[in-house]
Amino acid sequence: MTAYDTNNIFAKILRGEIPCFKVYENDHVLAFLDIMPRAPGHTLVIPKAPARNLLDITEADFVHVARATRLIARVAMPLFKADGIMIVQFSEPASGQEVYHLHMHVIPRFAGVALLPPATVKADMAALKEQATLLAAALKDG
Ligand code: 5GP
Repeated sequence: MTAYDTNNIFAKILRGEIPCFKVYENDHVLAFLDIMPRAPGHTLVIPKAPARNLLDITEADFVHVARATRLIARVAMPLFKADGIMIVQFSEPASGQEVYHLHMHVIPRFAGVALLPPATVKADMAALKEQATLLAAALKDG
């Protein structure tokens, strides 16, 4: 497998070189809104440790990602009045991975509403900002 590339876009977000709409952070993970969401509230959860994908992350680092993913899913469900939550993770190009720093997609789902295709429409920045503020506040409380 290809080695971890420290210049991937999520590594740049972790280093603060590129902005993001942050919703949650602790010592081990960062979560922020996907800039091209497939549904409202589409969030990405990433480890602070360098890992290309599920195939090279350590178990200890992945536990932190899994814990935060569960927390965000449970808070996002009522906040976005979703009917379900979809968790997706791609490992390697053949699976659909495009950014090579492990990330879990947390995607609210609404009955009868199809997902937008991946990475197509850049969301309205004001809408993303509002969603991130609401989600961050709900995560703080919960
Ligand atoms: P994957 O690698 O699992 O296919 O998906 C990468 C995801 O990252 C896509 O859903 C895409 O919309 C998102 N993405 C790509 N570039 C950026 C960025 O600069 N900021 C944020 N927040 N998301 C991004």
